[in-house]
Amino acid sequence: MRLSRFFLPLLKENPADAEIVSHRLMLRAGMIRQHASGIYNWLPLGYRVLRRIEQIVREEQDAAGAQEILMPTIQSAELWRESGRYEDYGKEMLRIKDRHDRDMLYGPTHEEVVTDVFRKNIHSYRDLPKILYQIHWKFRDEVRPRFGVMRGREFLMKDAYSFDLDMEAARRSYNRMFVAYLRTFRRMGLTAIPMAADSGPIGGDMSHEFIILADTGESAVFCHKALLEKPTPESVNYEGDLQPVVDEWTSLYAATDEKHTENHGVAPEDLISARGIEVGHIFNFGLKYSRPMDAVVQTVSDGTIPVQMGSYGIGVSRLVGAIIEASHDDAGIIWPDSVAPFHVGLINLKAGDVETDRVCAEIDARLSAAGVDVLYDDTQERPGAKFATMDLIGLPWQLIVGPRGLEKGVVELKRRATGERYEVSMETAIDRLIAPSSGS
Ligand code: ATP
Ligand code: MG
Repeated sequence: MRLSRFFLPLLKENPADAEIVSHRLMLRAGMIRQHASGIYNWLPLGYRVLRRIEQIVREEQDAAGAQEILMPTIQSAELWRESGRYEDYGKEMLRIKDRHDRDMLYGPTHEEVVTDVFRKNIHSYRDLPKILYQIHWKFRDEVRPRFGVMRGREFLMKDAYSFDLDMEAARRSYNRMFVAYLRTFRRMGLTAIPMAADSGPIGGDMSHEFIILADTGESAVFCHKALLEKPTPESVNYEGDLQPVVDEWTSLYAATDEKHTENHGVAPEDLISARGIEVGHIFNFGLKYSRPMDAVVQTVSDGTIPVQMGSYGIGVSRLVGAIIEASHDDAGIIWPDSVAPFHVGLINLKAGDVETDRVCAEIDARLSAAGVDVLYDDTQERPGAKFATMDLIGLPWQLIVGPRGLEKGVVELKRRATGERYEVSMETAIDRLIAPSSGS
C-alpha cells in the first residue's frame, strides 16, 4: 500500500478530549473517528488491527472446539420477557419499536437468542457438548462512554456460549475457554491475569475476568507476581484433562482487594498491586436461562433436563486500546507483530530520485509477493516528518532507503520496539523481513 494513496488522516496535536494515551494515539494515528458519543468509525489503519485481533480470537476459539455462528444485532423483546431480563436490564439496553409497534432491542448480549437457537434445534444428550460463538457488534447505552474504544456504546465482542449435560461437563467447557483465553491474549503480546470474579451463588468458582495491567485501567488488581511471569501453555490437547492447567493459574492469588492474601500464602514482597483493564470474562451460569426458557435435552434414561450453560466474552474492540496501553512510548504506538496493521513501513527518503524510487518499488513488490504487508511512504514529506509518522503508527519494522545509503549499497532496517538499527544490503533486509522469526 502506498502512503500517498492510503486514507490515513493523522493529527499533529493531541486531541483535547482524549483522556488516556491509547485514545489519543488512536485518534492521532488516524485509526478511528468518533461518530457520536461512544460510537466510532474504524478507518483503514484501525480496521486492519481490529481484523487481526478478531482473527486471533477466531483461531483460538476454533482450536478449542467452539463453532462460529452469527446472530442478529436486533433482537425481539419477547425472548427477554421469557428469561425475565427485559425489565431488569435497565437503561443500558437500547429499546426500539418496529413499524408494527413491536418491542425490539439492539442486543447488549446474546444469552437469550442463543438459548432460543439451542432449544429449537438440539434435543438430545447425544448432541452435547456444544460451544457456539460469534464476533459481532453489541450496543450498551453506557452511562459514561469514555476512553475511546475502551468503553464504547457500540463495541465488537466475541461472545461464546456452552451447552452441557451436567456440571462436570460444563466444567470441561469452562476449562477449554479458560485455556483458550490464556493463549489468545498471549498471542497478542499481552499478559492477561485470570482473576476470580464474583458471580453470585450460581457459578461457584467458575467465573474469571481476564485483566491486563495498565495504569489507566478501571479495575484494581492485587495479584501474585508469579502470574505475570507464567508461561502460557504452548500446545494444548483440548480433548485431554485441562483441570491441572487451570488449577496452576487459579491457585495464584488475583483479586480486586488484598483481603485474603495471607490465606493464599502470598508474601508481601510477592504481591503486586496495580490497575487493570478487563479484556475478557468467562462464567458458568448453570440453568439461569435454560430453565425459564425451557432449553432441555433428553437424558440417557429418557427423561429431560435443562441444559447447563456458560458464557465467555472477549472485548475485541477494547483490545485495540488495551494493546496500545500496554505497548507504546513517547513517539507513538508499538504494535506487537501479531496484530500490526502492516509489518513494514518502507520509507523513501528522496521520492522522485530515480534510483531510490526504483529500489523502493522493487522492495515493495518483492515483500508484497512474499505475503509481507508493506506500507510504502512514497510521499514528498521531509525525512523527519516521515520518521515521526512511522514511529506514531508503530509498525514493527521500518525500512529506510535513501540515495546516500544506496551509493554504499545499503539500506537501513529499524526495529520499532527497541530502536535498534541495522545497515544491511537490500537482499539481507528483504530476507530478514520475510523470515518467520521477523513475525510476519
Ligand atoms: P465492564 O465491567 O467493563 O463493563 P462487563 O462486565 O459489562 O464489562 P461483559 O458483559 O462480561 O462485560 O462483556 C465481555 C467483555 O466485553 C468485557 O470483558 C469487556 O472486555 C468487553 N466490554 C464490555 N463492555 C464494553 C464497552 N462498553 N466497550 C468496550 N468493550 C466492552
Ligand atoms: Mg458493563
